[in-house]
Amino acid sequence: MSPTRVTHQPDDGRGEHFRVLIEGFGVGTWDLDLTTYDLEWSETARTLLGIEPGRPASYELFLSRLEANDRTRVEDAVRKVSEGAGFDVSFRVADPSGRGHWIRARAGVISDDAGAARHLSGIFLDIDQEKRVEEALRTRETHLRSILHTIPDAMIVIDGHGVIQLFSTAAERLFGWAEHEAIGQNVSILMPEPDRTRHDGYIARYRSTSDPHIIGIGRIVTGKRRDGTTFPMHLSIGEMQSGGEPYFTGFVRDLTEHQKTQARLQELQSELVHVSRLTAMGEMASALAHEINQPLAAISNYMKGSRRLLAGSTDPNAPKIESALDRASEQALRAGQIIRRLRDFVSRGESEKRVESLSKLIEEAGALGLAGAREQNVQLRFNLDPDADLVLADRVQIQQVLVNLFRNALEAMAQSPRRELVVTNTPVADDMIEIQVSDTGPGFRDDVFPNLFQTFFTTKDTGMGVGLSISRSIIEAHGGRMWAEGNAPGGAIFRFTLPAADET
Ligand code: ADP
Repeated sequence: MSPTRVTHQPDDGRGEHFRVLIEGFGVGTWDLDLTTYDLEWSETARTLLGIEPGRPASYELFLSRLEANDRTRVEDAVRKVSEGAGFDVSFRVADPSGRGHWIRARAGVISDDAGAARHLSGIFLDIDQEKRVEEALRTRETHLRSILHTIPDAMIVIDGHGVIQLFSTAAERLFGWAEHEAIGQNVSILMPEPDRTRHDGYIARYRSTSDPHIIGIGRIVTGKRRDGTTFPMHLSIGEMQSGGEPYFTGFVRDLTEHQKTQARLQELQSELVHVSRLTAMGEMASALAHEINQPLAAISNYMKGSRRLLAGSTDPNAPKIESALDRASEQALRAGQIIRRLRDFVSRGESEKRVESLSKLIEEAGALGLAGAREQNVQLRFNLDPDADLVLADRVQIQQVLVNLFRNALEAMAQSPRRELVVTNTPVADDMIEIQVSDTGPGFRDDVFPNLFQTFFTTKDTGMGVGLSISRSIIEAHGGRMWAEGNAPGGAIFRFTLPAADET
């Protein structure tokens, strides 16, 4: 504020009237002699300063009422007045609440005829209310800023014209624009075409029709980073009115990771399904070979017998019949070999052993096999020892074993009051690692236990009974062992071992 300098003039009485009038509005008046520092104040000014009636006015008494920091500021301001500065300071006066009561002092300088500053004459205004509101606003602003800094989702506020008003720290990270660059720009900079050109239209349509296409609903859209790359994001929008104007708040979640995980899970799932089919086929081929070998051997024997019987025959067709019998017998043997070869191919086939992290295998198999487990109220615990993490294994096959065990455990616990599935790993002798999968289902009946790992053994209506036998073949093909035990508090424990791998 520019200094108000007035030359001292004799009071004609109207000034006094005016003073009395403004005192009535709660405005205190005061006058400070800049040479002697004698201070005079009106009744209202005294009350505003919180000074008891009757105490003589003095500059020291006035200063003593101020909070320490404010006192220095006020003294400085008074001193600067002689150098030509204006006088407009706010300060806190001690009050019973202990917070201090805000007063604003404004004054003009009265100079003598020679132009030297003589008096500082002005008013005190009670600005406590305004200051409190201002402080509350500032506190809320600070809260808002800290929210904007810390919320993990990107948050963007735009006005009714699509112009960005607020841009959170997460939004800076996600879109690559700094807050100060983004604010003031149209939010369409964060979208690829065709939304980019259409967005103003979207807002205009919403404002005229109130038809919420996205507001309050949330959907998956594509976002665009500053470098032009795009990414899938989940966007939900809220609306608010402030000062009669609409504002929209958008919360953005980056779905890149989510979609990657989904895609990876799908990939794993289809690999597993494929391998499961393959091993199930192998298992069936092996069982078939076993079953069919008997009749094939019998056929072959009957053929040999028939050929011997034919040896003495004089029938002109005998040599033809003999050769046909020989061929039939060859074919019967061949059929057995084909089945055996198929079985060898599938069981020994495509296994690819690598150094794998058990915890990763278990987590991925968990995601596949335990989908829905939480809804069933199953508590999952992976007690994994990081020092027994690396194994030499075929990832897909071991996951197949784990998924099998997890599914069996979930099915076994379907009716149990307590549902706990625990997976642990421990290093054991001979450089092996043992993995345990335990559940709190009903455990094994005595007649079930000896048959658990038999092919086609199942107690389930829709069971195939190949899961455990395939699992055991897989583990044995890895050089490990697989067996089952009862779980002491009720339930089943399956254990298997795999060769430990060194980190290389
Ligand atoms: P399926 O699950 O198709 O029956 P499996 O070979 O995986 O084939 O299992 C064979 C049988 O072993 C099951 O039918 C069930 O009786 C028993 N079983 C497997 N896991 C468990 C378990 N966790 N608790 C109790 N019984 C189990």
